[in-house]
Amino acid sequence: MSNTILITGASRGIGRATALKAGAMGWNVAVNYVNDAGAAGAVVAKVVNAGARAIAVQADVASEIDVERMFLQTIDDLGPLDGVVINAGIVAPATTLAEMSIERLRRMVDVNVMGTLLTARGAARALSQTGKPGSIVIVSSAASRLGSAGEYVDYAACKGAADTLTIGLSRELGPKGIRVNAVRPAFIETDIHASGGRPDRAGVLGATTPMGRPGQPDEVAEAITWLISDASSYVTGTFVDMSGGR
Ligand code: NAD
Repeated sequence: MSNTILITGASRGIGRATALKAGAMGWNVAVNYVNDAGAAGAVVAKVVNAGARAIAVQADVASEIDVERMFLQTIDDLGPLDGVVINAGIVAPATTLAEMSIERLRRMVDVNVMGTLLTARGAARALSQTGKPGSIVIVSSAASRLGSAGEYVDYAACKGAADTLTIGLSRELGPKGIRVNAVRPAFIETDIHASGGRPDRAGVLGATTPMGRPGQPDEVAEAITWLISDASSYVTGTFVDMSGGR
């Protein structure tokens, strides 16, 4: 079955891999980006080449106005949504909580908590309007249960909020046939680790997992698209841990 989905932070990494997999399955995709229009355009071109419809939508997920515009533009251009992937997220250089500035803490919460809540609110509204089943997938992190001590406990706490939202929102939206689940990756080879100051982090820590290797964005995209699809039609309020067994 063909779906129409919106993915936040889809210009690179896990979001990009999910957009490309969705496009290959014939799903229409809105590719949200914050400032890398060129990279988002390249993702759109690949989805269109695969025979599906796609648009790039600029929005900072921390901004209420941007998020509302993102949903309006997506529905105007692609039609009613079947699914939303809440993927945009940031880390910051590794340090202890005692050393973190207020500016860092606010931006971390603005993007990872407010961004997730605002996108989830937009998704709840948009999917409720269709009168059809819908699916929301939140990209949380294994950090929510591991804690990221000495690296970024602020990030881990934000992902804990994402996990709790997954449970609560699944109960709110279940009666409408809208499912809410999360994936909890770790040690996936993407550019996010460079912004945390350790480009080799996924490789180094991935090697210490029971699987003995880092994960790839495609492997996470596989779980996300399954959770969006009807193949997981009785799955809600739960988590798929993708951390090589850690
Ligand atoms: P990434 O840095 O490659 O991708 C993150 C995407 O989010 C980028 O496209 C970026 O432009 C976008 N983004 C950042 N701030 C934004 C904003 N304010 N508004 C809109 N978009 C914004 O990293 P990734 O690894 O692909 O991360 C995707 C998600 O996976 C994040 O939520 C991250 O926390 C989560 N995650 C990643 C890993 C990992 O090991 N890579 C592990 C656990 C969780």
